[in-house]
Amino acid sequence: MDTQAFKQTLHKSDRYNRRGFGSANKRAQALAEAYQSGLIGSIRENGNLLEHGRLKVKLAEAFGFCWGVERSVAMAYETRKHYPNERIWITNEIIHNPSVNDHLRKMNVLFIAEEKGVKDFSVVKDGDVVILPAFGATVQDMKLLHDRGCHIIDTTCPWVSKVWHTVEKHKKHTFTSIIHGKYKHEETLATSSFAGTYLVLFDLEEANYVSDYILGKGNREDFLKRFSKASSAGFDPDKDLQKVGVANQTTMLKSETEEIGRLFEKTMLQRFGPAQLNDHFLAINTICDATEERQGAMFSLVDEPLDLMVVIGGFNSSNTTHLQEIAISRGIRSFHIDTPERIGEETNTITHMPLEGELLTEKDFLQKGNISVGITSGASTPDRVVEDVIHKLMKIGENF
Ligand code: SF4
Repeated sequence: MDTQAFKQTLHKSDRYNRRGFGSANKRAQALAEAYQSGLIGSIRENGNLLEHGRLKVKLAEAFGFCWGVERSVAMAYETRKHYPNERIWITNEIIHNPSVNDHLRKMNVLFIAEEKGVKDFSVVKDGDVVILPAFGATVQDMKLLHDRGCHIIDTTCPWVSKVWHTVEKHKKHTFTSIIHGKYKHEETLATSSFAGTYLVLFDLEEANYVSDYILGKGNREDFLKRFSKASSAGFDPDKDLQKVGVANQTTMLKSETEEIGRLFEKTMLQRFGPAQLNDHFLAINTICDATEERQGAMFSLVDEPLDLMVVIGGFNSSNTTHLQEIAISRGIRSFHIDTPERIGEETNTITHMPLEGELLTEKDFLQKGNISVGITSGASTPDRVVEDVIHKLMKIGENF
């Protein structure tokens, strides 16, 4: 599909809206009423520090709702007001936060079901309103919804759209897009739908494997098996790795994306020589500001003396998981939770998600004596959720 031509048609359609229905001021006000927290505001004013008896809470300098998420959630609320009687669907969770998604369900926004990665669009009818979430939707899904006569409210974050432009640019110049991301993540699925030939790499280890292949040290069968689900149809490593451009899922670990970019630049330099480098390698920075800022704040926070960390955000939230990885890499006792209810203030327990694996419940969550707890949250987590977590910590500090 000519994705650029389709986008042009879509943007001209009177059944397509990517600006929302309210003013920026009204939007900010509505969100503040729904999600802002007085306690977090006062901790911020106090140098991000709260002292309560034996408990010291240190907040990251930047955390929580990012601009793109705020905009997306506000646009979804405005859509309900603008279309009070129409059926409203959303193609996926608006953001990876259970409380925000529940809030939308209560407003009678319907979620399109998905089984084994396939969405059931049969429920969506001509004239229905469909919201696309902050991390976007595939170009095929957009086309299907538009062809069906739906009104599309596109809340895709502009940072994500920027990545789509990047891979379209690769496609135009017949470069293969190397996308640093998780091939099953909604954002990466959307990005790859705008790319031509692509390969999704999860981490530096996979990037090294591909680099070795480019330099003639790989095995074709093994390559095809390894990336069968993470590459475009008919991907041929012997033909499709001659010219590569790097892009990423906006919420990956910034330092790793940069390292992957440098690795491919070096690889192409070695393979084709300096005079031909520009014909074989393209790098455009697609790391989102908010992700960069939150990861930077996390690196500063883990440099402080902490007894433990609590990282708050949806379990399927990529940016939250990366914050947790930073804490774990420093050897800090760190707990990733999605809601305040994971903390038992009457039992001093926490039920958390380790990096690899299943939910675990831990007793004696807060140890005796003075304790310093670092807190951060992912870009989809409202301040009120963080406030509730802090209240629970304060209670445990008082009672145990
Ligand atoms: S994390 Fe970045 S890309 Fe994602 S919604 Fe927020 S601002 Fe946009």
